[in-house]
Amino acid sequence: MPDSKTYTGGCHCGQVRFECTSDLSMVTACNCSICTKKGLHFTFLDPKSFQLRAGEENLKEYLFNKHAIHHQLCVDCGVDVFARGKKPDGSDVVALNVSCIDGIELSKLNMTPVDGRSM
Ligand SMILES: [Zn+2]
Repeated sequence: MPDSKTYTGGCHCGQVRFECTSDLSMVTACNCSICTKKGLHFTFLDPKSFQLRAGEENLKEYLFNKHAIHHQLCVDCGVDVFARGKKPDGSDVVALNVSCIDGIELSKLNMTPVDGRSM
């Protein structure tokens, strides 16, 4: 298991900024419609490990399917920065778009295939 690190990141235009702590041991490579069309790769965080530092008022919520996942998009640049949802046990979870982490190299991440299309 890699060590947990503190990362900063944000949307493309920079109005939405966050800080999070993660080991990035699990990053999704999901085949569902939104992950495929937007090229999204998520890692899941305890809400305590995720702090929005700027741009709360610049977020737009996007809901689809069963409205279980509340995607948070920057209203200016349109980047899907993170989403809030619930785990199967009912606890809150933050799904972070790892592409929004400063300096991330997607090709160096260990991706876990997820069959979201069948869920
Ligand atoms: Zn933006």
